[in-house]
Amino acid sequence: MLFFLVACGQAIDQDVGGENLELEGEEDADLTIGLSVADLTLERWQHDRDIFVETAEELGANVLVQSADGQDERQLSQIQNMLSQGIDVLVIIANNSDALSPVVEQANDEGIPVVAYDRLINNAHVDAYVSFDNVSVGEMQAEYLVENVPNGKYFLLGGAPTDNNAHMFREGQMNVLDRLIDSGDIEIVGDQWADGWSAENALSIVENALTSNNNDIDVIVATNDSTAGGAIQALSAQNLAGEVAISGQDADLAAVQRIAEGTQSMTIYKPIRAIATRNAEVAVQLANGEAIQVDETVNNEVTDVPFIKLEPIPVTQDNIIDTIIADGFHSYDDIYRNVPEQDRPDQP
Ligand code: BGC
Repeated sequence: MLFFLVACGQAIDQDVGGENLELEGEEDADLTIGLSVADLTLERWQHDRDIFVETAEELGANVLVQSADGQDERQLSQIQNMLSQGIDVLVIIANNSDALSPVVEQANDEGIPVVAYDRLINNAHVDAYVSFDNVSVGEMQAEYLVENVPNGKYFLLGGAPTDNNAHMFREGQMNVLDRLIDSGDIEIVGDQWADGWSAENALSIVENALTSNNNDIDVIVATNDSTAGGAIQALSAQNLAGEVAISGQDADLAAVQRIAEGTQSMTIYKPIRAIATRNAEVAVQLANGEAIQVDETVNNEVTDVPFIKLEPIPVTQDNIIDTIIADGFHSYDDIYRNVPEQDRPDQP
C-alpha cells in the first residue's frame, strides 16, 4: 500500500509495489519531480528535502520524495517506481555513486532528465551535477587542523567508501596533509572509513584507534559531523573530548552545539538553502527543456557532466553567529542551549 501525501490536505492511498512514496506539492502542478534521497535518517538530508520541496512548489512543481535509508537496492527499486509514476525529471542523491547506471539509463531511454544532487553518479549519462566544491571542503578541514596542530599524531576518519564525495573530501585533505607528512611534522597513526557515514561505525573505529595508540592521538580528521559525533563519544569515554582537535562537516545542530561547548573544533557549513534551491531550479529548467548555467564540467567516466559548483564555509566558535545563525540555519537558543549563560557570546 502506498501513502500519497498531498500538500493541499488530501491523502490518497495507492498500491505501487509496497513502496512508501510521498507526493508533496500541488496535485494539479504542471511538473512532477522525483527526488530520491540516499538516507533521510541523517539530519543533513532532512533540511535538503524540506527546502527542495518548498522551492519546487514555488516553481509550480510537485515532488515525489523517497528515502533509500542507506540501501543501494532500495534506491534502485524506488527510482524504478518513480519512473513508472510518470515523473518529468529525476533528482538523485546517490547512496552508491557506482550503482545507479541501470536506472539512469532507463531514465535516459524515457527522455527523463537526471540531476545528480550533491553526489556525482559515475558511469551514466547525467544531465547536471549540483554540489559544493568538495575538494575544497577537505582542504578547509585539513587547513584548520594543521594551523592549530602543526605537529602531532593524526588519525584519518573517512566517510562512506561508496560515496564519491568521500573520496573528493579525502583528496582535499591530502592536498594539505601530504607536505607535512613528507616533512615529518605530522604522523598518520591510522586511516579508516565509516560505512554509511554512521556515527556507530565511527565510534567503534575511534575506540579501537585509541586503544591501539594508547590514547596518543592529537588530531582526528573526521570527514563529517555524524562521524565526528561518534568519534567524540569515543574520546569522551577516555576524558579526551576537547583535548583532541577534530573536524566535521554539515553544521548539524548537534555538531554546532559541540563546537559551542568546545568538544568539536570546527565544521564546514554548506548552505543547504543554496544547494537545495539550485537543484530544484535546475530540475525544473531541465524538465522544461531550458538551458542551464554551469560553472564547469566533471568527468564521470562516460561523459563530461555539467557541474554547478557552490562554495562551502568553514565554521569555528568565532563565526557561528555570522554564518549559521545569520542564515537562520540554527537558532542562537538551540546552539547555546548547553552553554552556561555567562559563557555565551552576545546575542545578535
Ligand atoms: C555529503 C555530506 C554528508 C555525507 C553523509 C556526503 O555526500 O556531501 O554533506 O555529511 O554525505 O550524509
